[in-house]
Amino acid sequence: MRVFGEIEGIPVGVNFSDRRTLAGSGIHRPLQGGICGGADGAESIVISGGYADDQDNGWEVIYTGHGGRDPNSGRQVADQEWTAGNAGLRANCIEGRPVRLVRGAHRGSDFAPKSGFRYDGLFRIDSYWQEPGKDSFLICRFRLLADGGEEKASPKPAVVSQPVKRATSTIQRIVRNTEVTSRVKDYHLHACQFCGTKLQTPGGFYAEGAHIKALGQPHNGPDIEANVLCLCPNCHVLFDSGAVMINDDFTLIGLLGSLRLAREHFIDVAYVSHHRNHFKIRL
Ligand SMILES: [Zn+2]
Repeated sequence: MRVFGEIEGIPVGVNFSDRRTLAGSGIHRPLQGGICGGADGAESIVISGGYADDQDNGWEVIYTGHGGRDPNSGRQVADQEWTAGNAGLRANCIEGRPVRLVRGAHRGSDFAPKSGFRYDGLFRIDSYWQEPGKDSFLICRFRLLADGGEEKASPKPAVVSQPVKRATSTIQRIVRNTEVTSRVKDYHLHACQFCGTKLQTPGGFYAEGAHIKALGQPHNGPDIEANVLCLCPNCHVLFDSGAVMINDDFTLIGLLGSLRLAREHFIDVAYVSHHRNHFKIRL
């Protein structure tokens, strides 16, 4: 059974003596192979020192995809392609879906366990690209970051202003992805409920799940379908900033037209009205 995210009853830091017990736990199911998953998404990865190009910095991992290697010499003999697990990790990046990360004992890493395999928790895929590897063939690469690192630093999920050096500021948006937001995006086939935009990327369609009554303080909105919209990034910013609001009859304020609805997707007007009131009070 495919499980994304945490496996119930298996805490971060648990050690497994071998691949068989690791597979049995459900943390990383295949007995061989570094990536568990298909082109539509990856569930877990193992770092075991098999790829000379991997870099492990603890909270950050530069991970090499699979394929194109000679099984005897271990050298790259062909380009890696965006198929199978490589495409899966790329899809995770687009979807904002983390993977379970397992480290296996190997030389040359300060973060590998002394023996066996250790489950090190969820990492999100920050970016992906291709580049020539040590054997000059193209390899697929991924930058993985320990999940939750940024949220711990700045607990607000939506729009976060971060002062940076040189007296300018940059907006860093952290878009939370959950099973609920994934379902809502599926209901709308990733089309924006405000403007109808559907962004196609090499990793699949991209949309954002926007919580109407925001998660976290001071709103403490719930992560349920009735409180989530499927929006393109532009409309998400407009909505989170109060530039666009929604009337109880689902007509839009600040944009022409009405919210695009889907039969499976019930939206609670109480949240819509909370969002409106929040910004009206501040205007
Ligand atoms: Zn839009």
